[in-house]
Amino acid sequence: MTRFQFNIHARDGKARTGTIQMQRGEIRTPAFMPVGTAATVKAMKPETVRSIGADIILGNTYHLMLRPGAERVARLGGLHKFMNWDRPILTDSGGYQVMSLSDLRKITEEGVTFASHIDGSRHNLTPERSMEIQRLLGSDIVMAFDECPRADQPKEVIERSMLMSMRWAKRSREGFDSGEEHAARSALFGIQQGGLNEDLRSISAGKLQEIGFDGYAIGGLAVGEGQEAMFATLDFAPTQLPDGKPRYLMGVGKPDDLVGAVERGVDMFDCVLPSRSGRNGQAFTWSGPLNIRNAKHAEDTGPIDADCTCSVCATYSRAYLHHLQKAGEILGAMLMTEHNLAFYQQLMAGMRAAIAEGRFADFAARFRARYFAR
Ligand SMILES: [Zn+2]
Repeated sequence: MTRFQFNIHARDGKARTGTIQMQRGEIRTPAFMPVGTAATVKAMKPETVRSIGADIILGNTYHLMLRPGAERVARLGGLHKFMNWDRPILTDSGGYQVMSLSDLRKITEEGVTFASHIDGSRHNLTPERSMEIQRLLGSDIVMAFDECPRADQPKEVIERSMLMSMRWAKRSREGFDSGEEHAARSALFGIQQGGLNEDLRSISAGKLQEIGFDGYAIGGLAVGEGQEAMFATLDFAPTQLPDGKPRYLMGVGKPDDLVGAVERGVDMFDCVLPSRSGRNGQAFTWSGPLNIRNAKHAEDTGPIDADCTCSVCATYSRAYLHHLQKAGEILGAMLMTEHNLAFYQQLMAGMRAAIAEGRFADFAARFRARYFAR
């Protein structure tokens, strides 16, 4: 059985569309991965996540190691069985979330010591332990352990951090390979760092390719630098990475971020935005985002988006969703999340079709004209 095979079926400019074959299923690219932080895509049954077109979801090492614990998930048969999702799962390394969520961090060459944001208990995370946790979870795509410094740091700090992340990438590779049985059926991605600097990104890309990975993530973006700076970095970062391997832009983004990044050669994405903002009443549509809590929707009998093919838009009115959100009803969060994630999958499917048919520039221009027309 194929462990990991990426085939590019069509190209249009820098954009590519293809498939990743893995033992637990096929991933169509460009792909958007819904985020299942704590062994759940919040407010969504796994069967619904699948029915709207997601081929792969993301799980968070940091959250799962703290609760319920990686060893417990392993004793219960692994993350797939535990949460009832039999398709591929990508797990992050925990590095980014340790930096952003935990208290009392201490970062050394060895790894990170931190206090849990849940109960203050002390934990260590090293490249080796991160690989072990992702193995215990039964991850299909394992991410190398890295440090993600804030984008506003001086270049020397970004460089020092990037070089340490590259040493951690090598230790991640060795740790992953030592788990032979798991390594034989899963994949390991490296993570390019270097902030907004072309020279540092190039050094990072070179070091990662010396080590060798199944895919390459672009890390350290979408951390507050803004879309213009992110796109400027994506003008060079993806093409510094191997052409024949998947490129994954971590933590991105808004629908217009996804279109601009695919245009620049990115194949995979994850972001909490569609699920988190759905719970807060924001819906994404082909005509831009809207806030369902706004009074103008109170007696609107139309769907969130007349051109959305999701079951929420086929069934429920803006007026009803407005009421559910205002009343704080759980169903409101469920339906808004389902629409948003379905909309993201429709956007990815639209991009894949446009690339395959050689009309991506036209698709992107039409998308922007309508999305920003207000
Ligand atoms: Zn919809």
